[in-house]
Amino acid sequence: MIKEAGIESTNDAEMEKQFPSSVDFMLLGTCNLKCNFCFGPNHEIPAMRTDLAVDVIDKLSRNGVESIVFTGGEPTLIKDLPVILYAAKRRNLTTVLSTNGLTLASKEELLDEIAPHLDWIALPLEADTPEVNADMRVGFTPDAGIKHFEAVLGLIPRIRERYPDLKIKLGTVVAQPNLDRVAGIPDLLASRCAIPDTWKLYQVSPSEYGKLNYSNLQISDEEFERVYEEARARAIQTGIPNVQKYTNEERPGKYLFINPRGDALTVHPDTSDYFLIGNVLTGFNDVAKKWKSHINTQALTANFGRTYPQN
Ligand code: SF4
Repeated sequence: MIKEAGIESTNDAEMEKQFPSSVDFMLLGTCNLKCNFCFGPNHEIPAMRTDLAVDVIDKLSRNGVESIVFTGGEPTLIKDLPVILYAAKRRNLTTVLSTNGLTLASKEELLDEIAPHLDWIALPLEADTPEVNADMRVGFTPDAGIKHFEAVLGLIPRIRERYPDLKIKLGTVVAQPNLDRVAGIPDLLASRCAIPDTWKLYQVSPSEYGKLNYSNLQISDEEFERVYEEARARAIQTGIPNVQKYTNEERPGKYLFINPRGDALTVHPDTSDYFLIGNVLTGFNDVAKKWKSHINTQALTANFGRTYPQN
């Protein structure tokens, strides 16, 4: 075994196809928002070093991973984000950037730098009014959630105009504060020429910060279904081509996460919270052996394909 840049290296043939087809790579915990429901890593955790992140991408690409969702925290806060995305794209991976949109809205040149390395961009919007969106998207200034609302609604048409091949996913976390303001989102999007390719609704989950604030956020399965059905009907009317939902019951077994410390995490079947299975920086082979006991490969691939369809 050789050690390179702090990460284990093994014989390629030996490790071939040893990872699932898609991985969610949480590049950092730091964020420019502090949403109560956040299921990202602790915001104190800084970004993984760029050379280590590139090494991880390289090893994943040589071991069966075909798609990476780059997430956080807020990935656009990383100076080397274009380098990291380029590293994935030049290995022919399907690339998704999950971002809250605030930095991209304020730094126009960043979109130009990263768009050529992206297949999908995933943006969030939690309500059809700026006030309720701000109840969910909490920031460090009183108007952060309002700014976020306008940032996302301004970004979608800009991306459409400048990068017509870059697909857009909109995500909405459904919780107590926005329960009655989700179904109106499709009409808002239509009025702003901001129709995404996929709209995915998530039932708020008791993970990370969401766990700490769950008593004020939790909704029942029935409430989530009602909101989803109302929202879906409006989405069809307004021409959103792909509407998906994700309940807490569906979460386990469909994701492999890598956090900024290199920890490999799945979703625990009983608690819906993260479950540590190893570390890709210090034990890549160990993770390669363990993940199959926690992940349903077909369900993971199908979930990614439904959310980010190729055509
Ligand atoms: S949910 Fe996203 S935008 Fe909000 S604090 Fe977490 S990482 Fe940041």
